[in-house]
Amino acid sequence: MAGSSAIEISEYRGRLAPSPTGYLHLGHARTFYTAYMRARQAGGTLVMRMEDLDTARSRSSYAEAAYEDLRWLGIRWQEGPGAGLGRSDRDKADKKNKDGGPHGPYLQSKRGAVYLAAWHKLMRGGFLYPCKCSRKDLEHAAGAPHEGAEQDDEPVYPGTCRVQPAAEKIKNPESMNWRFRVPDGEAIEFEDANLGPQRFVAGVDFGDFLVWRRDGFPSYQLACVADDAAMRITEVVRGADLLKSTARQILLYRALGLRPPKWYHCRLVVDHNGQRLAKRHDALSIRALRQRGLTPLKVLAADVPMER
Ligand code: GLU
Repeated sequence: MAGSSAIEISEYRGRLAPSPTGYLHLGHARTFYTAYMRARQAGGTLVMRMEDLDTARSRSSYAEAAYEDLRWLGIRWQEGPGAGLGRSDRDKADKKNKDGGPHGPYLQSKRGAVYLAAWHKLMRGGFLYPCKCSRKDLEHAAGAPHEGAEQDDEPVYPGTCRVQPAAEKIKNPESMNWRFRVPDGEAIEFEDANLGPQRFVAGVDFGDFLVWRRDGFPSYQLACVADDAAMRITEVVRGADLLKSTARQILLYRALGLRPPKWYHCRLVVDHNGQRLAKRHDALSIRALRQRGLTPLKVLAADVPMER
Protein backbone atom coordinates (compact mmCIF):
# COMPACT_ATOMS: atom_id res chain seq x y z
CA MET A 1 0.00 0.00 0.00
CA ALA A 2 1.23 3.45 -0.83
CA GLY A 3 -0.08 4.87 2.46
CA SER A 4 0.83 8.49 2.84
CA SER A 5 3.93 8.13 0.68
CA ALA A 6 4.42 11.00 -1.73
CA ILE A 7 5.91 8.67 -4.33
CA GLU A 8 3.63 8.33 -7.29
CA ILE A 9 2.75 4.72 -8.07
CA SER A 10 2.79 4.05 -11.79
CA GLU A 11 -0.12 2.22 -13.35
CA TYR A 12 2.17 0.54 -15.86
CA ARG A 13 2.10 -3.24 -15.70
CA GLY A 14 4.23 -5.25 -18.09
CA ARG A 15 5.03 -8.93 -18.24
CA LEU A 16 7.62 -11.51 -19.20
CA ALA A 17 5.93 -14.61 -20.64
CA PRO A 18 8.50 -17.25 -21.57
CA SER A 19 7.56 -20.76 -22.67
CA PRO A 20 9.73 -23.37 -20.93
CA THR A 21 10.24 -25.51 -24.02
CA GLY A 22 13.96 -24.87 -24.47
CA TYR A 23 16.72 -22.49 -23.46
CA LEU A 24 16.13 -18.81 -24.09
CA HIS A 25 18.17 -17.34 -26.93
CA LEU A 26 19.54 -14.00 -27.99
CA GLY A 27 16.18 -12.92 -29.41
CA HIS A 28 14.45 -13.56 -26.09
CA ALA A 29 17.24 -11.72 -24.28
CA ARG A 30 16.58 -8.56 -26.27
CA THR A 31 12.80 -8.75 -26.09
CA PHE A 32 12.74 -9.44 -22.37
CA TYR A 33 15.30 -6.76 -21.69
CA THR A 34 13.14 -4.29 -23.59
CA ALA A 35 10.12 -5.35 -21.52
CA TYR A 36 12.16 -4.84 -18.36
CA MET A 37 13.43 -1.41 -19.39
CA ARG A 38 10.00 -0.16 -20.42
CA ALA A 39 8.46 -1.20 -17.10
CA ARG A 40 11.38 0.34 -15.26
CA GLN A 41 11.30 3.61 -17.16
CA ALA A 42 7.58 3.88 -16.48
CA GLY A 43 8.19 3.21 -12.78
CA GLY A 44 5.79 0.29 -13.14
CA THR A 45 5.50 -3.37 -12.25
CA LEU A 46 6.86 -6.29 -14.25
CA VAL A 47 5.14 -9.67 -13.92
CA MET A 48 6.71 -13.07 -14.64
CA ARG A 49 4.25 -15.54 -16.11
CA MET A 50 5.43 -18.98 -17.15
CA GLU A 51 3.60 -20.19 -20.25
CA ASP A 52 3.83 -23.91 -19.60
CA LEU A 53 0.57 -25.07 -21.17
CA ASP A 54 2.29 -27.24 -23.75
CA THR A 55 2.73 -30.16 -21.39
CA ALA A 56 4.44 -32.35 -23.96
CA ARG A 57 7.28 -29.89 -24.48
CA SER A 58 7.44 -27.90 -21.23
CA ARG A 59 10.04 -28.78 -18.60
CA SER A 60 10.39 -27.23 -15.18
CA SER A 61 14.16 -27.34 -15.70
CA TYR A 62 13.75 -24.95 -18.65
CA ALA A 63 11.61 -22.65 -16.48
CA GLU A 64 14.36 -22.61 -13.84
CA ALA A 65 16.95 -21.97 -16.54
CA ALA A 66 14.86 -19.07 -17.87
CA TYR A 67 14.64 -17.40 -14.45
CA GLU A 68 18.36 -17.80 -14.02
CA ASP A 69 19.33 -16.57 -17.48
CA LEU A 70 17.07 -13.53 -17.15
CA ARG A 71 18.51 -12.67 -13.75
CA TRP A 72 22.00 -13.06 -15.15
CA LEU A 73 21.07 -10.48 -17.81
CA GLY A 74 20.11 -8.10 -14.99
CA ILE A 75 16.35 -8.41 -15.49
CA ARG A 76 14.22 -8.18 -12.34
CA TRP A 77 10.47 -8.61 -11.90
CA GLN A 78 8.15 -7.71 -9.06
CA GLU A 79 5.45 -10.40 -9.40
CA GLY A 80 5.57 -14.07 -10.24
CA PRO A 81 8.00 -16.86 -9.41
CA GLY A 82 11.07 -15.52 -7.64
CA ALA A 83 9.78 -11.95 -7.75
CA GLY A 84 12.02 -9.11 -6.72
CA LEU A 85 15.10 -11.18 -6.12
CA GLY A 86 18.73 -10.65 -6.83
CA ARG A 87 20.83 -13.66 -7.69
CA SER A 88 22.41 -13.90 -4.26
CA ASP A 89 19.30 -13.80 -2.12
CA ARG A 90 17.26 -16.02 -4.36
CA ASP A 91 17.15 -19.20 -2.30
CA LYS A 92 16.29 -17.44 0.91
CA ALA A 93 13.51 -15.36 -0.58
CA ASP A 94 12.05 -18.03 -2.84
CA LYS A 95 10.70 -19.71 0.26
CA LYS A 96 8.91 -16.56 1.37
CA ASN A 97 7.60 -15.83 -2.06
CA LYS A 98 5.56 -18.89 -2.80
CA ASP A 99 2.78 -17.21 -4.75
CA GLY A 100 4.77 -14.27 -5.99
CA GLY A 101 1.99 -11.67 -5.86
CA PRO A 102 -1.73 -10.92 -5.82
CA HIS A 103 -2.59 -12.18 -9.32
CA GLY A 104 -1.22 -15.71 -9.04
CA PRO A 105 -0.83 -18.49 -9.71
CA TYR A 106 1.74 -17.36 -12.29
CA LEU A 107 2.17 -20.72 -14.01
CA GLN A 108 -0.34 -21.20 -16.81
CA SER A 109 -0.59 -24.90 -15.98
CA LYS A 110 -2.27 -23.88 -12.71
CA ARG A 111 -4.77 -21.40 -14.18
CA GLY A 112 -7.29 -23.76 -15.78
CA ALA A 113 -10.29 -22.15 -14.04
CA VAL A 114 -9.47 -18.72 -15.51
CA TYR A 115 -9.40 -20.15 -19.03
CA LEU A 116 -12.57 -22.14 -18.59
CA ALA A 117 -14.41 -19.00 -17.44
CA ALA A 118 -13.24 -17.21 -20.59
CA TRP A 119 -14.39 -20.13 -22.76
CA HIS A 120 -17.85 -19.97 -21.11
CA LYS A 121 -18.11 -16.27 -21.73
CA LEU A 122 -17.21 -16.67 -25.40
CA MET A 123 -19.71 -19.51 -25.71
CA ARG A 124 -22.44 -17.40 -24.20
CA GLY A 125 -21.65 -14.66 -26.68
CA GLY A 126 -22.02 -17.12 -29.58
CA PHE A 127 -18.46 -16.63 -30.79
CA LEU A 128 -17.37 -20.28 -30.83
CA TYR A 129 -18.07 -23.43 -32.77
CA PRO A 130 -16.78 -26.96 -32.41
CA CYS A 131 -14.35 -28.19 -35.03
CA LYS A 132 -13.73 -31.80 -35.94
CA CYS A 133 -10.90 -31.22 -38.39
CA SER A 134 -7.73 -33.10 -37.61
CA ARG A 135 -4.32 -31.59 -38.01
CA LYS A 136 -3.92 -33.73 -41.12
CA ASP A 137 -7.11 -32.32 -42.69
CA LEU A 138 -5.80 -28.83 -42.12
CA GLU A 139 -2.36 -29.53 -43.51
CA HIS A 140 -3.99 -30.99 -46.55
CA ALA A 141 -6.25 -27.95 -46.99
CA ALA A 142 -3.42 -25.49 -46.48
CA GLY A 143 -1.09 -27.20 -48.95
CA ALA A 144 2.62 -26.48 -48.76
CA PRO A 145 3.51 -23.52 -46.56
CA HIS A 146 3.89 -20.52 -48.82
CA GLU A 147 6.96 -18.37 -48.82
CA GLY A 148 7.02 -15.74 -46.14
CA ALA A 149 4.52 -17.64 -43.98
CA GLU A 150 5.32 -17.30 -40.30
CA GLN A 151 6.87 -20.55 -39.18
CA ASP A 152 4.71 -21.13 -36.16
CA ASP A 153 1.63 -19.21 -37.18
CA GLU A 154 -1.70 -20.97 -37.40
CA PRO A 155 -2.75 -21.39 -41.06
CA VAL A 156 -5.97 -19.70 -42.22
CA TYR A 157 -8.75 -22.15 -41.39
CA PRO A 158 -10.68 -23.16 -44.55
CA GLY A 159 -14.01 -23.04 -42.70
CA THR A 160 -14.96 -26.71 -43.00
CA CYS A 161 -16.86 -26.89 -39.68
CA ARG A 162 -18.07 -23.32 -39.64
CA VAL A 163 -21.56 -24.20 -40.76
CA GLN A 164 -22.29 -25.89 -37.45
CA PRO A 165 -23.83 -23.46 -35.01
CA ALA A 166 -22.30 -23.29 -31.53
CA ALA A 167 -24.10 -25.84 -29.39
CA GLU A 168 -25.69 -23.81 -26.60
CA LYS A 169 -26.28 -26.85 -24.46
CA ILE A 170 -22.65 -27.84 -24.30
CA LYS A 171 -21.47 -26.94 -20.83
CA ASN A 172 -17.76 -27.63 -21.14
CA PRO A 173 -15.24 -27.81 -23.96
CA GLU A 174 -14.27 -31.42 -23.30
CA SER A 175 -12.61 -33.48 -26.02
CA MET A 176 -13.40 -31.00 -28.70
CA ASN A 177 -11.54 -28.35 -30.65
CA TRP A 178 -13.25 -24.97 -30.46
CA ARG A 179 -12.72 -22.13 -32.89
CA PHE A 180 -13.45 -18.42 -32.72
CA ARG A 181 -15.46 -17.21 -35.67
CA VAL A 182 -13.71 -14.13 -37.04
CA PRO A 183 -15.58 -11.26 -38.74
CA ASP A 184 -14.55 -11.93 -42.33
CA GLY A 185 -13.29 -8.89 -44.18
CA GLU A 186 -12.96 -6.67 -41.13
CA ALA A 187 -9.62 -4.89 -40.83
CA ILE A 188 -8.15 -5.12 -37.35
CA GLU A 189 -5.98 -2.08 -36.81
CA PHE A 190 -3.77 -1.13 -33.93
CA GLU A 191 -0.92 1.18 -33.12
CA ASP A 192 2.31 -0.51 -32.17
CA ALA A 193 4.51 1.60 -29.90
CA ASN A 194 7.62 0.34 -31.69
CA LEU A 195 6.57 -0.56 -35.23
CA GLY A 196 3.82 1.98 -35.87
CA PRO A 197 0.36 1.37 -37.35
CA GLN A 198 -0.60 -2.25 -38.05
CA ARG A 199 -3.47 -3.69 -40.06
CA PHE A 200 -4.61 -7.28 -40.56
CA VAL A 201 -7.76 -8.42 -42.30
CA ALA A 202 -9.84 -11.14 -40.63
CA GLY A 203 -10.47 -14.08 -42.93
CA VAL A 204 -7.50 -13.10 -45.12
CA ASP A 205 -4.44 -12.66 -42.90
CA PHE A 206 -5.82 -15.08 -40.33
CA GLY A 207 -8.91 -17.22 -40.09
CA ASP A 208 -11.13 -18.79 -37.43
CA PHE A 209 -8.55 -19.64 -34.81
CA LEU A 210 -8.44 -22.24 -32.07
CA VAL A 211 -9.37 -21.18 -28.56
CA TRP A 212 -9.59 -24.65 -27.05
CA ARG A 213 -7.96 -27.90 -28.01
CA ARG A 214 -9.41 -31.35 -27.76
CA ASP A 215 -6.58 -32.38 -25.43
CA GLY A 216 -8.22 -30.22 -22.74
CA PHE A 217 -6.06 -27.11 -22.94
CA PRO A 218 -6.88 -23.58 -24.06
CA SER A 219 -4.96 -22.25 -27.05
CA TYR A 220 -2.17 -19.74 -26.61
CA GLN A 221 -4.50 -16.97 -27.86
CA LEU A 222 -7.15 -17.56 -25.22
CA ALA A 223 -4.75 -18.20 -22.33
CA CYS A 224 -2.71 -15.13 -23.17
CA VAL A 225 -5.71 -12.78 -23.29
CA ALA A 226 -7.34 -14.26 -20.18
CA ASP A 227 -4.07 -13.89 -18.26
CA ASP A 228 -3.05 -10.47 -19.50
CA ALA A 229 -6.49 -9.21 -18.55
CA ALA A 230 -6.60 -10.96 -15.15
CA MET A 231 -3.07 -9.78 -14.36
CA ARG A 232 -4.04 -6.20 -15.30
CA ILE A 233 -1.29 -5.88 -17.90
CA THR A 234 -1.26 -2.41 -19.47
CA GLU A 235 1.42 -3.01 -22.12
CA VAL A 236 2.47 -6.21 -23.87
CA VAL A 237 6.07 -6.30 -25.08
CA ARG A 238 6.89 -9.31 -27.27
CA GLY A 239 8.43 -10.39 -30.56
CA ALA A 240 7.18 -9.21 -33.94
CA ASP A 241 6.42 -12.84 -34.84
CA LEU A 242 3.27 -12.37 -32.75
CA LEU A 243 1.85 -9.32 -34.59
CA LYS A 244 -0.85 -11.38 -36.23
CA SER A 245 -1.67 -13.01 -32.93
CA THR A 246 -2.23 -9.54 -31.56
CA ALA A 247 -4.92 -8.97 -34.19
CA ARG A 248 -6.62 -12.23 -33.11
CA GLN A 249 -6.28 -11.28 -29.46
CA ILE A 250 -7.88 -7.88 -30.06
CA LEU A 251 -10.96 -9.78 -31.29
CA LEU A 252 -10.93 -11.85 -28.11
CA TYR A 253 -10.72 -8.75 -25.92
CA ARG A 254 -13.69 -7.32 -27.76
CA ALA A 255 -15.72 -10.52 -27.50
CA LEU A 256 -14.95 -10.76 -23.78
CA GLY A 257 -15.83 -7.12 -23.19
CA LEU A 258 -12.31 -6.33 -21.99
CA ARG A 259 -10.06 -3.40 -22.72
CA PRO A 260 -6.92 -4.42 -24.63
CA PRO A 261 -3.47 -3.35 -23.41
CA LYS A 262 -1.02 -1.28 -25.44
CA TRP A 263 1.34 -3.14 -27.75
CA TYR A 264 5.09 -3.00 -28.32
CA HIS A 265 6.53 -5.60 -30.68
CA CYS A 266 10.29 -6.04 -30.92
CA ARG A 267 12.01 -6.67 -34.22
CA LEU A 268 13.16 -10.25 -34.54
CA VAL A 269 16.79 -11.24 -34.32
CA VAL A 270 17.80 -13.23 -37.39
CA ASP A 271 20.80 -15.45 -37.99
CA HIS A 272 23.31 -15.03 -40.79
CA ASN A 273 20.98 -16.76 -43.20
CA GLY A 274 18.20 -14.30 -42.45
CA GLN A 275 16.26 -16.94 -40.47
CA ARG A 276 14.66 -15.91 -37.25
CA LEU A 277 16.12 -17.49 -34.16
CA ALA A 278 14.38 -20.50 -32.73
CA LYS A 279 15.14 -22.71 -29.82
CA ARG A 280 17.05 -24.99 -32.17
CA HIS A 281 19.74 -22.31 -32.40
CA ASP A 282 21.47 -23.75 -29.37
CA ALA A 283 24.69 -21.93 -30.11
CA LEU A 284 22.85 -18.65 -29.61
CA SER A 285 21.18 -19.62 -26.34
CA ILE A 286 21.90 -17.22 -23.51
CA ARG A 287 23.51 -20.17 -21.72
CA ALA A 288 25.91 -20.96 -24.52
CA LEU A 289 26.89 -17.31 -24.98
CA ARG A 290 27.47 -17.03 -21.26
CA GLN A 291 29.65 -20.13 -21.30
CA ARG A 292 31.64 -18.60 -24.13
CA GLY A 293 32.50 -15.78 -21.74
CA LEU A 294 30.22 -13.05 -23.09
CA THR A 295 29.04 -10.50 -20.53
CA PRO A 296 25.33 -9.57 -20.25
CA LEU A 297 26.12 -6.28 -21.97
CA LYS A 298 27.77 -8.09 -24.88
CA VAL A 299 24.86 -10.48 -25.22
CA LEU A 300 22.41 -7.60 -25.36
CA ALA A 301 24.46 -5.43 -27.70
CA ALA A 302 26.28 -7.98 -29.86
CA ASP A 303 25.64 -8.71 -33.48
CA VAL A 304 24.44 -12.24 -33.89
CA PRO A 305 27.54 -14.30 -33.19
CA MET A 306 28.66 -16.75 -35.80
CA GLU A 307 26.68 -19.81 -36.58
CA ARG A 308 28.51 -23.09 -36.36
N1 GLU B 1 5.16 -17.58 -24.52
C1 GLU B 1 5.36 -16.94 -25.79
C2 GLU B 1 6.72 -17.23 -26.31
O1 GLU B 1 7.62 -17.58 -25.55
C3 GLU B 1 5.22 -15.45 -25.72
C4 GLU B 1 3.84 -15.05 -25.69
C5 GLU B 1 3.59 -13.57 -25.50
O2 GLU B 1 4.50 -12.81 -25.14
O3 GLU B 1 2.45 -13.20 -25.69
O4 GLU B 1 6.93 -17.14 -27.51
